[in-house]
Amino acid sequence: MIPFVDLKAQHAALREELLSAIGGVLQSCEFTLGREVAAFEASFAEYCGTRHGVGVNSGTSALHLALLAAGAGPGDEVVTVPFTFMATASAIQYTGATPVFVDIDPRSFTMDPAAVEAAITPRTKVLLPVHLFGQTADMDPLMEIARRHGLVVIEDAAQAHGALYKGRRAGSIGDMGCFSFYPGKNLGACGEGGMVVSNHPEAVQRMRMLRDWGAERKYHHVLKGYNYRLEGIQGAVLNVKLRYLEAWTEARRAAAARYDRLLAQADVGLPEAMAWGRHVYHVYAVRCAERAALQQGLAEAGIQTGIHYPFPIHLLQAFADLGYPAGSFPHAEQAAREVLSLPMFPELTEAQSAEVAEAVRRLAVPAQASLASVT
Ligand SMILES: *Cc1c(COP(=O)(O)O)cnc(C)c1O
Repeated sequence: MIPFVDLKAQHAALREELLSAIGGVLQSCEFTLGREVAAFEASFAEYCGTRHGVGVNSGTSALHLALLAAGAGPGDEVVTVPFTFMATASAIQYTGATPVFVDIDPRSFTMDPAAVEAAITPRTKVLLPVHLFGQTADMDPLMEIARRHGLVVIEDAAQAHGALYKGRRAGSIGDMGCFSFYPGKNLGACGEGGMVVSNHPEAVQRMRMLRDWGAERKYHHVLKGYNYRLEGIQGAVLNVKLRYLEAWTEARRAAAARYDRLLAQADVGLPEAMAWGRHVYHVYAVRCAERAALQQGLAEAGIQTGIHYPFPIHLLQAFADLGYPAGSFPHAEQAAREVLSLPMFPELTEAQSAEVAEAVRRLAVPAQASLASVT
């Protein structure tokens, strides 16, 4: 069986180092925030090319606090994309602001800058592009539009640790960048975790208070805050794993290059790495005409796959209140129908890649044939 993601391989390789790091926290008893978290905030911010990092308990909390620091609240609008994980839209709704969607560019799967202007109103406060699957959005035109309209830019970089846009790290281009350290992400905790990176000292100060009950110091609560602290054990684990992130990213990119080569003749659409940056392949998603059949065929061949994401946010029952009918965002809707994520993790071997590619070549049918079969 070839798993979709193999966390066991990663943890087997790091077992001794991780146990020793966790042992250090058992010794210090700094279980929430503390020195390991502070050290990780400093090194991850440095890795991203930003001055500050605010460690929190999930990527969702990172988005929520960044939006609060941007001043988003009831009556405000936040422009984002419908082709993403639901956390992006939920975090907007946590603040009381309204998510306003714009379609994606079908080649990069990220926010289409040409669609943004029409979505901006006097209520728009934040532009929130998502660096989906490990590739950044086209940030230059997005930043230009945001600056012209006085919008705060928050990057959802939960899938893009180490990705580059014209030489700059994901998360460092807008005003704030939000990361998730959910175990399956490119840099994952042994549990939940997240971080906001930023160069704005006032926003950072505000988020540091908000994650810890709005307190300036103990019991001096100057804001209505949250319990969003990053755990000490996760900080210690992430300090170990950060040292491997670049090697893991190169391994992902090598695995993606193997798929690109082996699937060049297959009847699937391959993911496009845009010229503007470095794709870190959190997800390797192909497009296929008969997705259900291909996914089932692969499962029967012992190959696990995923779908990121089967429904665009605006068509989820949970977001029906936003009132977007089907057909509102054709590129997002088509992507949701067609994408299939192949096994992708740093330890994926050449033999495993070859086996996956052989099965995809054998099972995928051309778009034409699938069209003929329904008419
Ligand atoms: C994972 C993810 C999140 C949420 O992160 P959690 O740590 O699971 O809360 C937000 N946005 C995107 C695009 C994600 O992939």
